[in-house]
Amino acid sequence: MSPLESLVREASTLGDGRPGAPRVIPIRAATADESEVARVMQICNACRYCEGFCAVFPAMTRRLAFSPADAHYLANLCHNCGACLHACQYAPPHEFAVNVPQAMARVRGQTYADYAWPPSLGRLYQRNGLTLALALAAGLALFLLLAVMRQGGLNALWQAPSTGGFYAVFPHNLMVALFAPVFGWAVLALTLGVRGFWRDAAPGSASAPALAEAGNTALRLTYLGGGHGEGCNNDDDAFTLWRRRAHHATFYGFMLCFAATSVATLYHYVLGWQAPYAFDSLPKLLGTVGGVSLALGSAGLGWLNLRRHPLQGDAAQKPMDRGFIALLFLVATSGLALMLSHGSAALVTWLCLHLGAVMALFATLPYGKFAHGVFRVAALLKWAIEKRQPSRLKLADD
Ligand code: SF4
Ligand code: SF4
Repeated sequence: MSPLESLVREASTLGDGRPGAPRVIPIRAATADESEVARVMQICNACRYCEGFCAVFPAMTRRLAFSPADAHYLANLCHNCGACLHACQYAPPHEFAVNVPQAMARVRGQTYADYAWPPSLGRLYQRNGLTLALALAAGLALFLLLAVMRQGGLNALWQAPSTGGFYAVFPHNLMVALFAPVFGWAVLALTLGVRGFWRDAAPGSASAPALAEAGNTALRLTYLGGGHGEGCNNDDDAFTLWRRRAHHATFYGFMLCFAATSVATLYHYVLGWQAPYAFDSLPKLLGTVGGVSLALGSAGLGWLNLRRHPLQGDAAQKPMDRGFIALLFLVATSGLALMLSHGSAALVTWLCLHLGAVMALFATLPYGKFAHGVFRVAALLKWAIEKRQPSRLKLADD
């Protein structure tokens, strides 16, 4: 056995008991998934081959032991790029069975459920595919029912409104009354959830450079570059930047769609300009570019997810991942179809489909894959703060 392997074996079996090591007191006993993160991090801490891949490894070197709070922090710092699995000499079938992305993914799933607000709704993560399907069915049923009631019968679903576009079917005030409370709830639940995570992570206060660095790494998805800028490993040992590109197209497409809705709301309430707006108006341009970007990005993420190497990530979370991607794709494509159906008999049906999908998306934002972005930004900010602090690990003076 090589000296390195002896060291790795010792670290993986003894845990942290070295003289002078900082005392870490877990708030509760570690779960099996948190213990697995601690085990692989202790092996990696002895090996350190992947030090330059992402922020997880330099954050790891600041620790000798890994409490449950550390496991959650590192798990959310991990972007599941796969680089450290494909590079690892101790990955399965080696007896150490080091699979960092999988261990991190399992704890991330636990993070979302543990920090969900209110706590009882954390169980929605357990069967998340079903949660999304039920939310979508409820959203569609709500808007179909409202359309039938307001238009005076089933036939109205296949008739073009005489004037006013889709506001003739659902007036602006009705849509605000339906969507604002659901969106407000989602923002509140996500804020309170990540506040608990932040409190347990105890990062200290954020300086302006730390905030700027965290914003930069989050917006550029730096750690989907694999540490060398050539990209992730998706289905094999080859590097690809497509996951990073698809994430960018999805995120910025979503933000442009959100901007389109916000500008339209300003037009309506501040300027008194009523929809429908011209094709070259700002809300339509933002919505069109955003919708196309969101559709392409989510389609790309779905394609890459189907091809992902089976050892990467947590197979139990696939329904959550794929359900969320499918919902984003439905929101984007139904929104584009709605825009193109203006004045046609299909407008009401596309309208109900689009609004039902958007309602399902809003309602499940705090209880589905969307949460990963919020927790990851918090973890990136903690790392940007932590790396500016002196390390707690140093040689004893005597
Ligand atoms: S993932 Fe494997 S190669 Fe990379 S640091 Fe850990 S043990 Fe070493
Ligand atoms: S999977 Fe990628 S992001 Fe996650 S720990 Fe490994 S190298 Fe870092």
